[in-house]
Amino acid sequence: MLYQQLVVNDQTRRDVALAWLKRHHPEEAARHLQRIPPHSDLWFSIVDRVEPRLGAIARISIQRMGSPDVCSACGDPADDYRLVNAAEAMPGVPSLRLCSDCVRIRRGGGEILEPIT
Ligand SMILES: [Zn+2]
Repeated sequence: MLYQQLVVNDQTRRDVALAWLKRHHPEEAARHLQRIPPHSDLWFSIVDRVEPRLGAIARISIQRMGSPDVCSACGDPADDYRLVNAAEAMPGVPSLRLCSDCVRIRRGGGEILEPIT
């Protein structure tokens, strides 16, 4: 009875660990591959191809605020995010610099945004 419970516990722990790996490892891999800071030259070269409107709006915000450290969309103070569901929302966009309001709006629209630390 005790042994059976130990086996069940062990299997459960393995299942949980496997599920965790499956769920988290691709993200870890993606994060290492996608260390492309928003508003960098490389970022613009990618975004201009895959999401030209975003690139154009970001340039206007940066020019208007006189700094690249602003929300791509509106120019407010911002943090960097990774778009977890980029494949469906904005394929190819490696990262986003967004203020809290724009993050809230985009999350409301179905985007899964994870802070980049
Ligand atoms: Zn904003």
